[in-house]
Amino acid sequence: MSCIFCQILSGETPASLIYRDEQVTAFRDIHPIARTHILIIPNRHIASVNELEPGDEVLVGHMVLVAKELAAQAGVAEGGYRLMINTGVHGGQTVSHLHLHLIAGKLARFLLG
Ligand code: 5GP
Ligand code: ZN
Repeated sequence: MSCIFCQILSGETPASLIYRDEQVTAFRDIHPIARTHILIIPNRHIASVNELEPGDEVLVGHMVLVAKELAAQAGVAEGGYRLMINTGVHGGQTVSHLHLHLIAGKLARFLLG
């Protein structure tokens, strides 16, 4: 069975999609920890930051720029937001498909101190 985020990419598993282009897809986190909680993922399966390779710079940079655009779209750009990539078990990663969390709202202030 392919990973849950690959299933979202294929449409096999429903998600609240927000954005899609040739490289990345963004959708709402199913268990939001703040008012705005969006995940930006590569359209290609990459398990984690550990699996990134030379040549992926453009993709990772694009993920951040898409996060910036979605933050503006969500109206949180000025107030501020947190971008987070958890990696591996000790990094709190629970889904093995690279994803960038875009988190904004009251609770986001208390995450990770
Ligand atoms: P991690 O803990 O790996 O950094 O983050 C994984 C995130 O994916 C969690 O915040 C979790 O709520 C979210 N998530 C897990 N399964 C699904 C799903 O099926 N749909 C959506 N939209 N989010 C999911
Ligand atoms: Zn995947």
